[in-house]
Amino acid sequence: MGFVSHRVERRFLRAGDHIYSWRTGFVYSHHGIYMGEDQVVHFTCASASRSCAACEMFEYSDRDSGVIASCLDCFLKSGSLRRYKYGVSKRRYWMKRPGTCNTAESGPVEVVMERAESLLAKNGFGEYNLLKNNCEDFATFCKTGQGCNRNGTARRYGQASLIPPALASSRRNPKP
Ligand SMILES: [Zn+2]
Repeated sequence: MGFVSHRVERRFLRAGDHIYSWRTGFVYSHHGIYMGEDQVVHFTCASASRSCAACEMFEYSDRDSGVIASCLDCFLKSGSLRRYKYGVSKRRYWMKRPGTCNTAESGPVEVVMERAESLLAKNGFGEYNLLKNNCEDFATFCKTGQGCNRNGTARRYGQASLIPPALASSRRNPKP
């Protein structure tokens, strides 16, 4: 079946894209939402290295974990840039490496951006948990209004109470 890379050149990125990058020898991937103008909003547990001048221009740049904004370079940490796919068939989903695609459809770009911006403003994605609430869940939530679907079963999103009502009501995407 082979690994389909999903690699993308940064000039082809669009605001609202769910992007990711493999780290430490393809064991761990980091995910975020590209907001345009070199900015990525992502969810992280580790102190983020964002000491560059570009990152300091973003809002909440004093925050070092939770939902943060950083420049694309600081997000990638020299890993390769890839774009997550939405709306893939169940068959393709099973053939793909986990953490690269989702059978759900992405919501409209402006809704995706609105969710990311609101979660950034409130640092509103709860506690980071590698298995239950991680950077992929965050990006997937921004895209679809729901958590990751892994192993074919939709995972319940555990932080529903932290989602502002305006966002909860913007779940207009059709059922996957
Ligand atoms: Zn930076």
